[in-house]
Amino acid sequence: STMPPLLSAIANAGRHGVLAKSAVVMERLGQVDMVALDKTGTLTEGTPRVTDIRPLPGHGLDEDELLALAAAAEHPSEHPLARAVVRAAHDRGLNLAEATGFTSAPGQGVTAAIGGRTVQVGSPARLASTVGPGTSRVVRELEDEGRTVVLVLRDGVPAGVLGIADRLRPDARATVTALTELTGRTPGLLTGDNERAARHLAAEVGITDVRAGLLPQDKVAAVREWEAEGRRVLVVGDGVNDAPALAAAHTGIAMAGSDLALETADAVVVRNELSAVPAVVALSRKARRLVL
Ligand code: ADP
Ligand code: MG
Repeated sequence: STMPPLLSAIANAGRHGVLAKSAVVMERLGQVDMVALDKTGTLTEGTPRVTDIRPLPGHGLDEDELLALAAAAEHPSEHPLARAVVRAAHDRGLNLAEATGFTSAPGQGVTAAIGGRTVQVGSPARLASTVGPGTSRVVRELEDEGRTVVLVLRDGVPAGVLGIADRLRPDARATVTALTELTGRTPGLLTGDNERAARHLAAEVGITDVRAGLLPQDKVAAVREWEAEGRRVLVVGDGVNDAPALAAAHTGIAMAGSDLALETADAVVVRNELSAVPAVVALSRKARRLVL
C-alpha cells in the first residue's frame, strides 16, 4: 500500500483489535521495554463470583442477610466486585433494600446508607482500624486460598466477610510469555487487591514482580520507580483506579468495556483479548523499523 508505515500500523492494530489514538502512540508503543498489568479485569476475566459468605458472630445476620446488605450498598457501583456481589444476591433471589448517599473510593470500596444505617463494603486492609482478631483470621484464611476478600461493616462494626474468586483470562499466560520475549523483562503486576491473592494468581502466569494493596496513586509511584530505572513502561488497565498510572506511564492501554475515561488511555483494546497487547507492540516495532 501507499499508506505511510505508522498509519498502516494503526490500521493493522485495528485489525488486531486495538484502537490507537494516533501515529505518535504507535511510535511510543514501539519503544516500550516493560509492561505493567493490572490484575482484576486485566489479567483476570473481570467476572468474579462470590464463593464464600461468612457472617461474623455477634451480629445475628445469616448468610442471606449479610449478602443482601452488601449487595444493597454495592448496587450503584460498576466495579467488577460490586457486580459479583449483586449477582450473587440475585442468584439467591434476595430482595435488596434501597441505598442512599452512595459514595465509592477507587481501590478501597463503597459506602451507602441503608435503612438509616451506614454500610461499608471494601478492602479489609483499608478498613483495618476496625478489625479484630476473629475477623483477621477469617480474612487471612480466605486470602490464603487466593480469594479477593471484602469486609462488610455496619455502623463501623464488622458484620461479615465475603470471599470472591476471579478466573485468569484464557490467554493470560501466553500473553505474559509473549511480553517477556518482546521486552526482555517479565511484566509486573499492579493491584489494589491483597498480596496473597495477587501472588497466588501471579504464580500461575509466571509473574514475580507483584505490587499489591495499591491505591491509584501508589500505582503511579510504582510506574515512576520502574521509569527511574530507565524503563519505558506500558501500563495496561481497566478501572478508574488505573487511570492515573495509565496517564503517568510512557504509554497506557485500556481494556475493552472498562470504566476508564478513554481520554486517559493512548490506545484501547476493543476486542476482549489480552493477547492483542503483545500483538500491537510487535506491530508498532515493525512500523518503527520501516520509518527509521
Ligand atoms: P485491581 O487493582 O486489582 O483492579 P481495585 O483497585 O479495583 O483492584 O480494588 C482493590 C481492592 O479495593 C479490592 O480488592 C477490594 O478489596 C477493594 N474494592 C474496590 N472497589 C470495591 C467495591 N466496589 N466493593 C468492594 N471492594 C472494593
Ligand atoms: Mg482492574
